[in-house]
Amino acid sequence: MYALLKVVLFSLLFAISYCAAPDARIVSETKSEQRRPLTVTYVGNEGVLISSGPHQLLIDGLHREYKPDYAFPPPALLGALEAARPPYDQLQLLLVTHIHLDHFHPQSVGLHLQNNPGAVLVSSAQVGDDVKEKFGSYREIESRVRRVTPEWKTKAALEVKGIKVNVLGLRHGSERFSWIQNQGFLVELNGTKLLHIGDADMTAENFSSFHLPEERIDIAFIPYWFLLSDQGRSLVKEHIRPKQIIAVHIQPAEAEKVAEQIRKANPGTITLTRIGESKSF
Ligand SMILES: [Zn+2]
Repeated sequence: MYALLKVVLFSLLFAISYCAAPDARIVSETKSEQRRPLTVTYVGNEGVLISSGPHQLLIDGLHREYKPDYAFPPPALLGALEAARPPYDQLQLLLVTHIHLDHFHPQSVGLHLQNNPGAVLVSSAQVGDDVKEKFGSYREIESRVRRVTPEWKTKAALEVKGIKVNVLGLRHGSERFSWIQNQGFLVELNGTKLLHIGDADMTAENFSSFHLPEERIDIAFIPYWFLLSDQGRSLVKEHIRPKQIIAVHIQPAEAEKVAEQIRKANPGTITLTRIGESKSF
Protein backbone atom coordinates (compact mmCIF):
# COMPACT_ATOMS: atom_id res chain seq x y z
CA MET A 1 0.00 0.00 0.00
CA TYR A 2 2.78 2.37 1.02
CA ALA A 3 4.74 1.50 -2.11
CA LEU A 4 1.69 2.17 -4.28
CA LEU A 5 1.15 5.53 -2.64
CA LYS A 6 4.77 6.41 -3.31
CA VAL A 7 4.39 5.55 -7.00
CA VAL A 8 1.22 7.61 -7.29
CA LEU A 9 2.77 10.60 -5.52
CA PHE A 10 5.93 10.43 -7.62
CA SER A 11 3.90 10.28 -10.87
CA LEU A 12 1.84 13.21 -9.74
CA LEU A 13 4.91 15.29 -8.92
CA PHE A 14 6.51 14.38 -12.23
CA ALA A 15 3.36 15.36 -14.11
CA ILE A 16 3.16 18.69 -12.30
CA SER A 17 6.78 19.60 -12.93
CA TYR A 18 6.59 18.46 -16.56
CA CYS A 19 3.55 20.62 -17.17
CA ALA A 20 4.88 23.60 -15.26
CA ALA A 21 8.33 23.72 -16.81
CA PRO A 22 7.57 25.06 -20.33
CA ASP A 23 5.29 27.82 -19.06
CA ALA A 24 7.81 28.96 -16.49
CA ARG A 25 10.48 29.13 -19.18
CA ILE A 26 8.32 31.17 -21.53
CA VAL A 27 7.48 33.63 -18.76
CA SER A 28 11.11 34.18 -17.84
CA GLU A 29 12.20 34.49 -21.48
CA THR A 30 9.50 37.03 -22.25
CA LYS A 31 10.36 39.00 -19.15
CA SER A 32 14.07 39.09 -19.89
CA GLU A 33 13.43 40.27 -23.46
CA GLN A 34 11.33 43.15 -22.25
CA ARG A 35 13.28 44.28 -19.27
CA ARG A 36 16.43 43.26 -17.46
CA PRO A 37 16.98 43.76 -13.74
CA LEU A 38 18.50 47.09 -12.82
CA THR A 39 20.32 48.30 -9.72
CA VAL A 40 20.61 51.86 -8.42
CA THR A 41 23.42 52.61 -5.95
CA TYR A 42 23.61 55.88 -4.04
CA VAL A 43 26.90 57.74 -4.41
CA GLY A 44 26.12 61.11 -2.75
CA ASN A 45 23.82 64.14 -3.01
CA GLU A 46 22.15 63.52 -6.41
CA GLY A 47 24.74 60.94 -7.46
CA VAL A 48 23.49 57.55 -8.60
CA LEU A 49 25.26 54.61 -10.20
CA ILE A 50 22.95 52.62 -12.44
CA SER A 51 23.78 49.15 -13.65
CA SER A 52 21.86 46.63 -15.71
CA GLY A 53 23.41 43.65 -17.49
CA PRO A 54 26.62 44.79 -19.14
CA HIS A 55 25.68 48.46 -18.88
CA GLN A 56 26.83 50.85 -16.19
CA LEU A 57 26.36 54.61 -15.99
CA LEU A 58 26.87 57.30 -13.40
CA ILE A 59 24.78 60.45 -13.01
CA ASP A 60 26.14 63.36 -10.92
CA GLY A 61 28.39 60.94 -9.03
CA LEU A 62 31.84 62.49 -9.47
CA HIS A 63 32.15 65.32 -6.99
CA ARG A 64 34.15 66.15 -3.88
CA GLU A 65 33.47 67.50 -0.40
CA TYR A 66 31.93 70.95 -0.85
CA LYS A 67 29.54 72.23 1.83
CA PRO A 68 28.03 70.48 4.86
CA ASP A 69 24.56 70.43 3.27
CA TYR A 70 25.66 68.05 0.57
CA ALA A 71 26.50 64.36 0.82
CA PHE A 72 29.56 63.41 -1.22
CA PRO A 73 31.41 60.18 -2.06
CA PRO A 74 33.74 59.46 0.89
CA PRO A 75 37.50 59.31 0.11
CA ALA A 76 37.74 55.55 -0.50
CA LEU A 77 34.80 55.57 -2.92
CA LEU A 78 35.88 58.80 -4.62
CA GLY A 79 39.40 57.40 -5.04
CA ALA A 80 38.04 54.21 -6.62
CA LEU A 81 35.77 56.21 -8.94
CA GLU A 82 38.52 58.59 -10.02
CA ALA A 83 41.03 55.76 -10.54
CA ALA A 84 38.35 53.67 -12.32
CA ARG A 85 39.13 50.68 -10.14
CA PRO A 86 36.81 47.66 -10.50
CA PRO A 87 33.86 47.62 -10.64
CA TYR A 88 33.99 51.26 -11.82
CA ASP A 89 36.21 50.33 -14.75
CA GLN A 90 33.01 49.10 -16.41
CA LEU A 91 31.36 52.53 -16.50
CA GLN A 92 30.36 53.44 -20.04
CA LEU A 93 28.63 56.75 -19.57
CA LEU A 94 29.04 59.72 -17.23
CA LEU A 95 26.14 62.16 -17.17
CA VAL A 96 26.45 65.49 -15.37
CA THR A 97 23.35 67.66 -14.92
CA HIS A 98 25.20 70.93 -14.23
CA ILE A 99 28.36 72.62 -13.12
CA HIS A 100 27.60 73.14 -9.39
CA LEU A 101 30.17 71.51 -7.13
CA ASP A 102 27.64 69.38 -5.25
CA HIS A 103 27.03 67.58 -8.56
CA PHE A 104 30.35 67.69 -10.36
CA HIS A 105 34.08 68.24 -9.95
CA PRO A 106 36.17 68.84 -13.10
CA GLN A 107 39.21 66.95 -11.72
CA SER A 108 37.15 63.94 -10.66
CA VAL A 109 35.43 63.71 -14.03
CA GLY A 110 38.72 64.25 -15.88
CA LEU A 111 40.51 61.57 -13.85
CA HIS A 112 37.81 58.97 -14.39
CA LEU A 113 37.80 59.57 -18.14
CA GLN A 114 41.60 59.38 -18.21
CA ASN A 115 41.65 56.10 -16.26
CA ASN A 116 38.71 54.49 -18.05
CA PRO A 117 39.10 54.69 -21.83
CA GLY A 118 35.67 53.03 -22.21
CA ALA A 119 33.78 55.94 -20.65
CA VAL A 120 32.10 58.87 -22.40
CA LEU A 121 30.96 62.12 -20.75
CA VAL A 122 27.71 63.69 -21.89
CA SER A 123 26.97 67.09 -20.40
CA SER A 124 26.53 70.78 -21.12
CA ALA A 125 29.01 73.08 -22.85
CA GLN A 126 29.64 74.69 -19.42
CA VAL A 127 30.66 71.37 -17.87
CA GLY A 128 32.76 70.36 -20.89
CA ASP A 129 34.53 73.73 -20.90
CA ASP A 130 35.19 73.57 -17.14
CA VAL A 131 36.85 70.15 -17.50
CA LYS A 132 38.88 71.54 -20.42
CA GLU A 133 40.02 74.52 -18.37
CA LYS A 134 40.81 72.71 -15.11
CA PHE A 135 41.91 69.18 -16.01
CA GLY A 136 45.55 69.18 -17.11
CA SER A 137 45.40 66.09 -19.33
CA TYR A 138 42.33 67.23 -21.25
CA ARG A 139 43.85 66.27 -24.61
CA GLU A 140 43.83 62.61 -23.58
CA ILE A 141 40.08 62.65 -22.97
CA GLU A 142 38.69 65.33 -25.27
CA SER A 143 37.41 62.88 -27.89
CA ARG A 144 35.15 61.40 -25.20
CA VAL A 145 33.69 64.69 -23.96
CA ARG A 146 30.36 65.27 -25.68
CA ARG A 147 28.79 68.67 -25.19
CA VAL A 148 25.05 68.53 -25.70
CA THR A 149 23.26 71.68 -24.63
CA PRO A 150 19.66 71.89 -25.80
CA GLU A 151 17.84 75.18 -25.36
CA TRP A 152 15.38 75.57 -22.51
CA LYS A 153 12.25 73.41 -23.11
CA THR A 154 13.88 71.50 -25.96
CA LYS A 155 15.61 68.13 -26.03
CA ALA A 156 18.33 66.27 -27.90
CA ALA A 157 18.46 62.50 -28.44
CA LEU A 158 21.61 60.42 -28.60
CA GLU A 159 22.79 56.88 -28.01
CA VAL A 160 26.02 55.85 -26.29
CA LYS A 161 26.99 52.16 -26.29
CA GLY A 162 23.41 50.94 -26.48
CA ILE A 163 22.16 53.39 -23.84
CA LYS A 164 19.53 55.77 -25.19
CA VAL A 165 19.63 59.24 -23.70
CA ASN A 166 17.38 62.24 -24.17
CA VAL A 167 18.99 65.41 -22.86
CA LEU A 168 16.35 67.86 -21.62
CA GLY A 169 16.89 71.61 -21.39
CA LEU A 170 15.51 72.28 -17.90
CA ARG A 171 16.13 75.62 -16.20
CA HIS A 172 17.93 75.52 -12.82
CA GLY A 173 15.97 76.63 -9.76
CA SER A 174 16.36 80.22 -8.43
CA GLU A 175 16.88 83.42 -10.41
CA ARG A 176 20.49 83.82 -9.26
CA PHE A 177 21.34 80.55 -11.01
CA SER A 178 19.64 81.43 -14.30
CA TRP A 179 23.07 81.41 -15.99
CA ILE A 180 23.54 77.71 -15.16
CA GLN A 181 22.96 75.19 -17.93
CA ASN A 182 20.96 72.54 -16.09
CA GLN A 183 20.02 69.37 -17.92
CA GLY A 184 17.63 66.56 -17.31
CA PHE A 185 18.41 63.08 -18.59
CA LEU A 186 15.78 60.63 -19.75
CA VAL A 187 17.65 57.34 -20.03
CA GLU A 188 16.40 54.09 -21.50
CA LEU A 189 18.39 51.11 -20.33
CA ASN A 190 17.45 47.45 -20.95
CA GLY A 191 13.75 48.28 -21.00
CA THR A 192 13.73 50.62 -17.97
CA LYS A 193 13.16 54.37 -18.33
CA LEU A 194 14.85 56.62 -15.81
CA LEU A 195 14.67 60.38 -15.35
CA HIS A 196 17.18 62.62 -13.54
CA ILE A 197 16.41 66.34 -13.43
CA GLY A 198 19.42 67.81 -11.61
CA ASP A 199 18.35 70.97 -9.76
CA ALA A 200 15.48 71.79 -12.11
CA ASP A 201 13.32 74.79 -11.33
CA MET A 202 10.08 73.67 -9.65
CA THR A 203 7.62 75.13 -12.16
CA ALA A 204 5.18 73.41 -14.49
CA GLU A 205 6.46 75.57 -17.36
CA ASN A 206 9.90 73.97 -16.99
CA PHE A 207 8.52 70.47 -17.61
CA SER A 208 5.30 70.75 -19.62
CA SER A 209 6.84 70.86 -23.11
CA PHE A 210 8.43 67.40 -22.64
CA HIS A 211 5.12 65.55 -22.08
CA LEU A 212 6.89 63.24 -19.68
CA PRO A 213 3.81 61.27 -18.54
CA GLU A 214 3.60 59.90 -22.10
CA GLU A 215 7.10 58.46 -21.67
CA ARG A 216 5.82 56.12 -18.94
CA ILE A 217 8.88 56.68 -16.78
CA ASP A 218 9.75 53.82 -14.43
CA ILE A 219 12.09 55.60 -12.02
CA ALA A 220 12.51 59.35 -11.43
CA PHE A 221 15.20 60.90 -9.21
CA ILE A 222 13.63 63.96 -7.63
CA PRO A 223 15.24 66.62 -5.39
CA TYR A 224 13.60 66.19 -1.99
CA TRP A 225 12.12 69.73 -1.79
CA PHE A 226 9.72 68.90 -4.63
CA LEU A 227 8.27 66.22 -2.38
CA LEU A 228 7.77 68.42 0.65
CA SER A 229 5.59 71.05 -1.04
CA ASP A 230 2.10 70.84 -2.51
CA GLN A 231 3.27 72.60 -5.67
CA GLY A 232 6.16 70.18 -6.14
CA ARG A 233 4.09 67.09 -5.49
CA SER A 234 1.41 68.06 -7.99
CA LEU A 235 4.11 68.98 -10.52
CA VAL A 236 5.61 65.48 -10.19
CA LYS A 237 2.17 63.90 -10.48
CA GLU A 238 0.98 65.96 -13.45
CA HIS A 239 4.17 66.53 -15.43
CA ILE A 240 6.38 63.50 -14.67
CA ARG A 241 4.12 60.74 -13.26
CA PRO A 242 6.84 58.13 -12.64
CA LYS A 243 6.04 54.64 -11.39
CA GLN A 244 8.73 54.99 -8.73
CA ILE A 245 10.02 58.19 -7.14
CA ILE A 246 13.48 58.20 -5.59
CA ALA A 247 14.20 61.27 -3.44
CA VAL A 248 17.74 62.66 -3.62
CA HIS A 249 19.72 65.77 -2.50
CA ILE A 250 18.75 65.16 1.16
CA GLN A 251 21.10 67.00 3.56
CA PRO A 252 23.19 64.67 5.73
CA ALA A 253 22.56 66.59 9.00
CA GLU A 254 18.86 65.79 9.18
CA ALA A 255 18.73 62.94 6.70
CA GLU A 256 16.63 60.44 8.64
CA LYS A 257 14.13 63.02 9.87
CA VAL A 258 13.66 64.53 6.41
CA ALA A 259 13.52 61.10 4.76
CA GLU A 260 10.70 60.10 7.08
CA GLN A 261 8.77 63.31 6.28
CA ILE A 262 9.17 62.62 2.58
CA ARG A 263 7.98 59.01 2.84
CA LYS A 264 5.01 60.06 4.97
CA ALA A 265 3.92 62.73 2.48
CA ASN A 266 4.64 60.54 -0.56
CA PRO A 267 3.82 56.90 0.23
CA GLY A 268 5.95 54.43 -1.72
CA THR A 269 8.79 56.89 -2.29
CA ILE A 270 12.34 55.63 -1.85
CA THR A 271 14.70 58.01 -0.02
CA LEU A 272 18.44 57.73 -0.62
CA THR A 273 20.52 58.88 2.34
CA ARG A 274 23.24 56.26 2.97
CA ILE A 275 26.19 56.28 0.59
CA GLY A 276 26.60 52.84 -0.97
CA GLU A 277 23.02 51.67 -0.43
CA SER A 278 21.52 49.86 -3.41
CA LYS A 279 18.01 49.25 -4.67
CA SER A 280 17.15 46.62 -7.26
CA PHE A 281 14.27 46.79 -9.71
ZN1 LIG B 1 22.65 73.34 -8.49
